[in-house]
Amino acid sequence: MKKIPSFTIDHNRLERGVYVSRRDFTPSGDCLTTFDVRMTLPNRQKAITPQALHAMEHLAATFLRNHPVWAPKVVYWGPMGCCTGNYLILQGELVSNDIIGLLRETFAFIATYPGTEADIPGATPRDCGNYTFMDLDAARHAARIYLEEVLPDPATVYPAEE
Ligand SMILES: [Zn+2]
Repeated sequence: MKKIPSFTIDHNRLERGVYVSRRDFTPSGDCLTTFDVRMTLPNRQKAITPQALHAMEHLAATFLRNHPVWAPKVVYWGPMGCCTGNYLILQGELVSNDIIGLLRETFAFIATYPGTEADIPGATPRDCGNYTFMDLDAARHAARIYLEEVLPDPATVYPAEE
């Protein structure tokens, strides 16, 4: 099988940032842009725990799907399997700079989200498949770091192939 394009990026040189990972065109001509919302340095920093990413997923999905401007364009938000960030898929042929403001709002929402795990939207056995698998403090902490250290000047271009 062919190595897919996202596995050809040199993760050892990848910085924290906001990258366009893919652009897919549907048969009807719509473009879907997949963003790589990279929160930790791959293989060089401790990854985020799955419990924190799960809490982040519930909060980000809720925030984005209620956003007054962006909600109709939101296709998907979800954690990366390697736990170094998240994917965001939006409708439209977009570049990273189009969504930095949206990401600032999203991560500010997570970083300041009040309460405990029980206050996370959808954190109930009816609404989620593993509803106690959440770490809100760690989600707030990771969101704060991304908001303050990365989003003011995020990397947006993948490292050139060597
Ligand atoms: Zn869940």
